Amino acid sequence: MPGSTTQRYGGNTSCIEVRCGDHLLILDAGTGLRALGNGLPDQVDADLLLTHTHLDHIVGLGFFEPLMRPGTRLRLHGGHLALPALTSALSAALSPPLMPDLWSLVGKGLSIGVLAAGRPVELHPGLSVTAEHLRHPGGSVGFRIEWRGRCVAYVTDTEHVPGQPDQAVLRLAREADIFIYDCNYTDDEFAQRIGWGHSTWQEGVRLAYAAGARRLVLFHHDPWRTDDALDKLGTAAAAALPGTVAAAEGMVLAV
Ligand SMILES: [Zn+2]
Ligand SMILES: [Zn+2]
Repeated sequence: MPGSTTQRYGGNTSCIEVRCGDHLLILDAGTGLRALGNGLPDQVDADLLLTHTHLDHIVGLGFFEPLMRPGTRLRLHGGHLALPALTSALSAALSPPLMPDLWSLVGKGLSIGVLAAGRPVELHPGLSVTAEHLRHPGGSVGFRIEWRGRCVAYVTDTEHVPGQPDQAVLRLAREADIFIYDCNYTDDEFAQRIGWGHSTWQEGVRLAYAAGARRLVLFHHDPWRTDDALDKLGTAAAAALPGTVAAAEGMVLAV
């Protein structure tokens, strides 16, 4: 939530830009997608990995200006729903009565597909993506992205079971250079949030160690978390696993 207490970490919802050479890969289509669109050329050719269709991960699609221009090609890859259900969820979210008819504006340049879990797919020459199912109300998928021997794991909107490391997450994060993980809560807060579908920074640290991931990025901050609170979480997590950072809007990490 943007506001006076989220000036440094930002308040937009999930959206990450990944550059593999000159190929553009986008992770989720939260409100951050609007700002990303402003910095792109008129016509865009890109792949978008969608974890799931909760509104905070898709609402930016209707405000992604490159999709409103002829010539843009955006290939959306989901995995938590079968194809017809995914397409109808997206079109419903961007159509009346929930929105003005944004779907007819952005739908033309958008193609929608579904990745099967556990099977690497080459989305672009040299760029391999593997999806795995996560534990989240209504389902969600995480992604392992590999390009030229480098790896980013994107694991958000997932709930752990204390004491039972999630094997799917470990497969995604194995020796990843960057492990982006759902750190919505702290372990202390988690007991009151069972079933809400999110995890903690402490579980992120445990999984990063178990997977041999090199750098943990705390992601999907609780909407009520202030800049000062995030400073404290980031410092505590970096003390537990050196190199860990709390994701902030505009942050750039080289892999
Ligand atoms: Zn969600
Ligand atoms: Zn979410």
